[in-house]
Amino acid sequence: MSDPDSPLPTVFVSAAALIDRDGRVLVTKRLPGKHLAGTWEFPGGKVEAGETPEAALIRELAEELGIDTHESCLAPTGFASHSYAAFHLILLLFACRKWTGSAKGREGQALKWVHTPQLFSLDMPPADRPLIGVLDALI
Ligand code: C5P
Repeated sequence: MSDPDSPLPTVFVSAAALIDRDGRVLVTKRLPGKHLAGTWEFPGGKVEAGETPEAALIRELAEELGIDTHESCLAPTGFASHSYAAFHLILLLFACRKWTGSAKGREGQALKWVHTPQLFSLDMPPADRPLIGVLDALI
């Protein structure tokens, strides 16, 4: 339902909790010049018009990290809803344990693999933060 007092556009972003064999999760650092530059996020990006959240995430993971995965490997894990100054964000988080290729920062972004308790002390975007506890309980 739209909020008549809030003309902000709603943006849907799909993000991945890529989980390796040691139970570590990948976070990537937002590039300088971008909104929330320098924060560590779950990788992903905007769901474009006509795209499913899963297709958007598969596309973003290939573009940003050079890895390939399949819809059947994406497990819906939780979502967060956060209002930024210019838009309202719905962040959809999918856990993913199977992919091919080795994740690299194809756009120059730093990457790190961390155990979930370490996520609590990272500077993450406010939309990502509520999802840390969900992941910590899952892994
Ligand atoms: O990555 P991109 O800039 O396309 O993301 C759109 C918006 O969603 C950004 O403003 C970013 O701050 C937000 N976002 C987020 N958490 C993520 C990914 C994106 O808050 N894991």
